[in-house]
Amino acid sequence: MIKDNLFDRMNYAGEVNWDLDKSNNFYFFMNIDILNGCDFSCAGCYVNKGTNSVNLDEDLKIISKIADEINASNFHLEEIALGPTDFFSAKNTLQVIEHPDFKRLFKNPETKFVMLSTLKASTEEIREKLLKLEEHVGHLDIDLLIATDMDEFLTDPNYISNIKKKWKVLQESNLEFDPAFQINIHPANLIKYDSANLTRLAQEIKAEFDTILEFNPSILRIKHRNQTENLHFWMNTIKENFQKNAEGFTYTMLNKGHSGMNNLVVNFRSGNFYICPFIYENVFSYDNTYLIPKKDQLHSLTDLTDAKEDFVVKQMKYSEQTTHCEGCEYLVSCSYKNVLTFMEANKIKDCFLGLGNGEIHGRAI
Ligand code: SF4
Ligand code: SF4
Repeated sequence: MIKDNLFDRMNYAGEVNWDLDKSNNFYFFMNIDILNGCDFSCAGCYVNKGTNSVNLDEDLKIISKIADEINASNFHLEEIALGPTDFFSAKNTLQVIEHPDFKRLFKNPETKFVMLSTLKASTEEIREKLLKLEEHVGHLDIDLLIATDMDEFLTDPNYISNIKKKWKVLQESNLEFDPAFQINIHPANLIKYDSANLTRLAQEIKAEFDTILEFNPSILRIKHRNQTENLHFWMNTIKENFQKNAEGFTYTMLNKGHSGMNNLVVNFRSGNFYICPFIYENVFSYDNTYLIPKKDQLHSLTDLTDAKEDFVVKQMKYSEQTTHCEGCEYLVSCSYKNVLTFMEANKIKDCFLGLGNGEIHGRAI
């Protein structure tokens, strides 16, 4: 089934309390890149589609050990995002679902499962995988992120009707879905990402599916040879839209608590955990800079929590080498979001968020 009032509930990140005055919990988010293969070629995709997991048994053993430790502690395992490729077309989806350690990840019924998909697989494939998921894991609360593309959504006459067919399959499933659309912002798009077009897209998505549109800085996923230009493009898109339509968009960076002090987001790939920078969205990067060291053969929960603190301290120190961060009102928040680690990895000295110099201000969630 698809939950009701998607837009109203998802238009802000209210289900996790980012306000430290009101929060009594510490939240864990795990992005696990263990799916291999994808049948599609979305515009702006910088995902490694090939071999994200070469030893699935070992990977799931490591991840489920951490999940068990979180569930045995006072911390809360809020979300597990299974990626990086399309859930319904990846080559090893069934192997993952049927693995006994996968079920262990969702021992706490409140842990949400984040599923990534284009919903372009056939209705039969989608139905088959959902039935398997239900059979092996039982009840699941699923945040479904539908990868879409502005050119396609706004110009292909068949796109919406095709997605509606898949929507019906989700409605018929016993699993619970919160679907939202997500676009990869990338420089080669034909329709400009200006505020008029983005607003039109967001309004169509709201009218047709009663849900929200998120922007994803997929271009930050890898250290690309055009990384600096890509970053510049992404930030200019954000700034231009802010200037033209400050009320219509939600800017997660303005919320000092969002993805900050009382939560820990980690990325996992091929046996290793990495801290996850938050630059308007989670950055799925597997650069050595973000690697979380382990004290034993297998990672423990303490390795992850220690890394959170160690990275914050390193960033406070790095702020001395930057142009704007030292003394900035966002410094603690940016350090908890690992923004300065991202800056150091990309040799950035100036505030590139538009916050430190007041270019972006005002509406936060
Ligand atoms: S579904 Fe995901 S991995 Fe596959 S092409 Fe699209 S964005 Fe890339
Ligand atoms: S100057 Fe920019 S990057 Fe640095 S702490 Fe402030 S908002 Fe963050």
